[in-house]
Amino acid sequence: MRLDIVTIFPEYFAPLDVSLLGKARRRGDVDMHVHDLRDWAHDRHRTVDDTPYGGGPGMVMKPEPWGEALDTVVPPPSRARLVVPTPSGRPFTQELATEYAAEPWLVFACGRYEGIDARVIEDARERMPVDEVSIGDYVLAGGEVAVLVIVEAVTRLLPGVLGNAESVSDDSFAPGRMEALLEGPVYTKPATWRGRDVPEVLMSGNHAAIARWRRDQALGRTAERRPELIARNRLDEADRRALTE
Ligand code: SAM
Repeated sequence: MRLDIVTIFPEYFAPLDVSLLGKARRRGDVDMHVHDLRDWAHDRHRTVDDTPYGGGPGMVMKPEPWGEALDTVVPPPSRARLVVPTPSGRPFTQELATEYAAEPWLVFACGRYEGIDARVIEDARERMPVDEVSIGDYVLAGGEVAVLVIVEAVTRLLPGVLGNAESVSDDSFAPGRMEALLEGPVYTKPATWRGRDVPEVLMSGNHAAIARWRRDQALGRTAERRPELIARNRLDEADRRALTE
């Protein structure tokens, strides 16, 4: 997979060299490039923002540097999937992360100030798919942290990036049986710590009982913390019993 990130703060992306992502990058599983938007600003001060038409506080990112940047990073007629983080975008979910993980090429455009001149997105949409994506109902100072969130969620799904591939399918929101469920509690050694015991079933070696216990915990936790998700699950008799107990 190829990833390109356009930003006025390339230094925000140093964490891409750390941990699993750093390893994936060094192995060549992910080909990542970070570009400084100011390389496409041609005045002495390398200006990328200007005052908003219609007035109001704050500044807006100018279209010219963005247009040139996107034409250089994705030269026509090539097509990447362009992801533009914005609080007014579609919510970023595990489902969208899974969809992105199957893409050969993603390009991210990090906004700052009051955002990017709307014509940049209209123009890009004429030659490639563009997604405006929100990572939550709050406002960050810029798109960089949102892009880090999206890139981490996507790249951990790529084949070979996680040591144990199984952990992906057991995660909260994983496609399949966990799609609309939160994972339950997890434990490791020692079996007793500060007077608190690990649930006995987890040490029983009975795989069917462990699977049932985990499912019940996931259902119970979801019903308590995110009740609106429960209706999206296909529940069998045992599931319904777990929810009413
Ligand atoms: N004026 C914009 C609004 O009210 O929707 C907020 C602009 S915000 C200060 C600057 C940049 O941060 C945005 O262009 C976007 O790139 C990024 N950003 C802020 N919150 C975000 C969120 N919840 N999800 C994704 N990106 C976000």
